[in-house]
Amino acid sequence: MRVLSIGECMAELAPLAAPAQYRMGFAGDTFNAAWYLARLTPDASVSYFTAVGDDAISAQMLGMIRDNGIDTSHVQIVSKRSVGLYLITLDKGERSFTYWRGQSAARQLAQDARALSGAMDQADLIYFSGITLAILDAKGRETLVDAAKAARAAGKLVAFDPNLRPHLWDSPQEMTETIMQGAAVSSIALPSFEDEAQWFGDGSPEATLNRYAQAGADTIVVKNGAEAVRYRAGRDEGTVIVPQLASVVDTTAAGDSFNAGILAGLAKRVPLVESISLSCRLAGHVVQGNGALVPVDQSLVDGFA
Ligand code: AMP
Repeated sequence: MRVLSIGECMAELAPLAAPAQYRMGFAGDTFNAAWYLARLTPDASVSYFTAVGDDAISAQMLGMIRDNGIDTSHVQIVSKRSVGLYLITLDKGERSFTYWRGQSAARQLAQDARALSGAMDQADLIYFSGITLAILDAKGRETLVDAAKAARAAGKLVAFDPNLRPHLWDSPQEMTETIMQGAAVSSIALPSFEDEAQWFGDGSPEATLNRYAQAGADTIVVKNGAEAVRYRAGRDEGTVIVPQLASVVDTTAAGDSFNAGILAGLAKRVPLVESISLSCRLAGHVVQGNGALVPVDQSLVDGFA
């Protein structure tokens, strides 16, 4: 299975214990999912599609992506641009995020329609998110949605996490309309109920599931924090209970790692219910660690074997 994940990876500055001291890392929703997927499926090919600048930090990011077993051959280099940055601030244990991504090269990732469809041609499973759509201009969004539609029509799997982030959009209406355009070309929808309830007014996970089914997805998995996961795949439908945890340290990348589990399950042809259980275990492990990229135990990897 060849997987292509499309989106933006950013530089991250996370506070250390000493005041005004930070550790630099790299993260971003679709990249986090690619990172977990590369760990879960060492024998699959995982490729990241983005655009970076031509400066030192862009080169460092590319090196890190490659060092983690992720192919970067489709990454575009945009001259005189750089990567986006975010800073984590801790206030009594609560994390808040400040972003500098307005000028990031990744905003131009869909400018070359041929590069995008060429990369999709070489994949069996394509993954993107509402954040991927949010960072693009109107033309880029259209190019990405059209390319995903063509890929699905060509028999490829297209997986989409709506990942609703209102601050990245001009208005809630622009967000919800564009998200449903992304959903309409996707075979697999991976929404999180809390966000969907807030922005689409869904009264229950079932309502979220129905809306994505009506949009055209064949497989829908509705995450809901510590609450049960609701799924439908064709006529197969049900819930999977999420293992309760004694403590949650940091929920960053809970959804991204969960999605990676679902994609790994598809790559390894694990039945969906089993794949959801494994994804819950993985996401449960991730929320008990700090940051987006939490090292994965071999026992979790073996679960997908
Ligand atoms: P979310 O996107 O917040 O709905 O979370 C994605 C997945 O992460 C959930 O389906 C759970 O498997 C896991 N998860 C998130 N929060 C918790 C929690 N508080 N306790 C246990 N698992 C969680």
